[in-house]
Amino acid sequence: MILTVTLNPSIDVSYPLEHLKIDTVNRVKNVRKTAGGKGLNVSRVIHMLDHDLTATGFIGGYFGKWLENQLDRDGIAHDFLPIDAETRSSIAMLHDGGKQTEILEAGPTITPEDAQKFLDHFDKLLDQADLLTISGSMPQGLPEDYYTQMIAHAGAKNVKVLLDTSGATLKSALEAPVKPLLIKPNEEELAGLLNREVDKTDYAALKQDLQDPIFDGVDWIVVSLGSAGAFVKHQDKFYHAAIPKIQVVNPVGSGDSTLAGLAMGIHDGKSDEDIMKTAMTTGMLNTMEAETGFVNPTKFDTYFAKVTIENY
Ligand code: ATP
Repeated sequence: MILTVTLNPSIDVSYPLEHLKIDTVNRVKNVRKTAGGKGLNVSRVIHMLDHDLTATGFIGGYFGKWLENQLDRDGIAHDFLPIDAETRSSIAMLHDGGKQTEILEAGPTITPEDAQKFLDHFDKLLDQADLLTISGSMPQGLPEDYYTQMIAHAGAKNVKVLLDTSGATLKSALEAPVKPLLIKPNEEELAGLLNREVDKTDYAALKQDLQDPIFDGVDWIVVSLGSAGAFVKHQDKFYHAAIPKIQVVNPVGSGDSTLAGLAMGIHDGKSDEDIMKTAMTTGMLNTMEAETGFVNPTKFDTYFAKVTIENY
């Protein structure tokens, strides 16, 4: 099965408002609350496409219980480590014709004891997993190399790791002796890693960028390009995955849905071409739905057939 990690899950609250009024009351009728945090978006998409998974991370308090109930309702298997502190919520206000204003809680601070307890818990889950996805930023209290430690634990058990994070945590993972199998930086994250500007429209330059020694030992690098698809390196091969023009309803969570597609394709032992096509399809299907980290499986085959892969 696929193990998905969301260390800092969240109740994602979405408030659609015609106009956001500052320094006064805003009333809202249609509130939507979902089990969120990037790894839970990944989990939902994997589940909707009928693959076995277990979601894990830290969970706490009444909000944590609510979140677990939501996952139970949706039939998503989970095995989180309970902690004393309350799980966070994140608010997104969608207002004024396409604007999105977010208020994100930092969430609980993980104690050193819980950090160690989780690694023990994680080790047991790894015994049943063949592929692991790690998504998002870490909660407070954990050392910068915590994901790196988790990748080493997975490596010791021959579990493949797909890592979607940024900044110092991503850098730490790339510098460690045991590397993730796949990373999924966007333009901004790539620029941060390389310490220089990156032009995502210049594929020849991207091809050079992905050969930087910082990526040595990482099998797959998937640079997602929004409506332009993705530029991909797999070992010494380079590809551009092109996607058709589609009607976008809500692009939030497309990167997470792409990671879900990559996880399923790699888990199923598909060809490079089909792995990329699966990932582009899950990304696209997510943009076509109002809900975040949500795909309509009945549209899968139609859009899969519309993705084209060119060697670069
Ligand atoms: P996120 O902020 O959600 O993590 P990201 O920057 O990692 O996103 P994107 O490159 O925006 O990811 O999107 C991932 C994938 O979703 C794309 O490769 C594509 O398949 C699909 N996608 C995203 N935006 C669009 C769009 N406007 N039209 C068509 N497909 C899209």
